[in-house]
Amino acid sequence: VVQASIITIGDELLIGQTVDTNSAFIAQELNKLGIWVKRRIAIGDKREDILDALGTESKECKIVIITGGLGPTADDITKPTLCEFFDAKLVVDEGALENVKYIFTRINRPLIERNLKQAEVPDKCIVLPNLRGTAPGMWFEKEGIVYASLPGVPHEMEGLLINSVLPKLKEHFQMPAIVHKTLFTAGKGESEIAELLVEFENNLPVHVKLAYLPSYGMVKLRLTGKGNEQHQLEEEISALANGLKSIVKEWLVAEEDISLQEALNKLLKQENKTLATAESCTGGFIAHLITSIPGSSAIFNGGVISYANEVKVSVLGVKRNTLEQFGAVSEQTVIEMAEGVTRQMNTTYGLATSGIMGPDGGTPEKPVGTVWIAVTNGSLTKTQKFQFRFDRKRNIQLTANAALNMMRLFILAGN
Ligand code: ATP
Ligand code: MG
Repeated sequence: VVQASIITIGDELLIGQTVDTNSAFIAQELNKLGIWVKRRIAIGDKREDILDALGTESKECKIVIITGGLGPTADDITKPTLCEFFDAKLVVDEGALENVKYIFTRINRPLIERNLKQAEVPDKCIVLPNLRGTAPGMWFEKEGIVYASLPGVPHEMEGLLINSVLPKLKEHFQMPAIVHKTLFTAGKGESEIAELLVEFENNLPVHVKLAYLPSYGMVKLRLTGKGNEQHQLEEEISALANGLKSIVKEWLVAEEDISLQEALNKLLKQENKTLATAESCTGGFIAHLITSIPGSSAIFNGGVISYANEVKVSVLGVKRNTLEQFGAVSEQTVIEMAEGVTRQMNTTYGLATSGIMGPDGGTPEKPVGTVWIAVTNGSLTKTQKFQFRFDRKRNIQLTANAALNMMRLFILAGN
């Protein structure tokens, strides 16, 4: 297999100010192509360390990808160091210069000398145009090894990787056929699913791997097959995926790698139905997730963040008596919240959350992590109580996913 090394550059990575997400993204993409990432290393903006890393990594890997340190600030010394390593000198690239000028005109900011330096590249590289920023990517080849140097800004790096680097790598190296298939489940824990899949996993051929990708009440199951013949492999993976599907069908959300909110949005759109949210403990997070999906206006009318009891009463029409008798975190309250918001927003469906997210506010009867969720179509309302553990942030995530999934199942059940 072709091996790659990823070098991320920046003092901010070493002091922990920036979390290195770039190398994770790159590793995932390379992996999808069948390239094995042998090493990921982070180093500072330091000439000797960059030279050292380039020297070491190129001895063991055919592909070396580096990110960061291309900026116009003094601490970004990747470019001069690349010149040294490749025995090159900095020259202005006309295309990159045009791009810098174009971006500055568009954002309506004065262009200073410092920014023009962004258009300088070592004369031994192939310039990879950056459509999302000013620093171009650079591609080098030396003694059979290929190197790509990309900006540190994740959004820019991602664009360059996908649009330029991966296609070039595919041209350059003979890759095995690779097929991935993801099944997305929700509502069952990773270990419980693993229990169900023992036999399935044992029977997988050696060239097919099953990966568990769990997060917040969801588990994605990814089958990856590696082989010589693409078409044959596709058929094989498809058959295996069907087998997998029949085992997890009760919890299956989608047969693709999407989010729960995407799945719900799709379902609502398909059914031509609308939704509103009444959120207490999730503070609008569910509405945010839903509206993060392009085109959500067709299915989402709005939401109320009814954090205070007063708002639950005045905006959603929750009865004062209900709050006094059962409390804000109760089945009765979420029912009235969900039904209230559905009425107010004139939607097909409504969902509501109320819970104790922690770290304070728990009682023996209602400990931290107690959450009530209701989903309604205006006449029928279903509720469920959850007991989460963990910290506040995780509880909010878990609540949101549980609510999205409850809504989805409620619709699928024909309500
Ligand atoms: P630019 O030309 O836009 O300045 P650059 O190549 O100089 O890009 P840096 O200055 O090193 O990149 O970093 C730009 C931003 O990207 C910083 O906010 C930094 O925190 C972030 N960043 C850098 N490296 C990584 C990384 N490995 N993972 C995630 N974020 C990163
Ligand atoms: Mg930097």
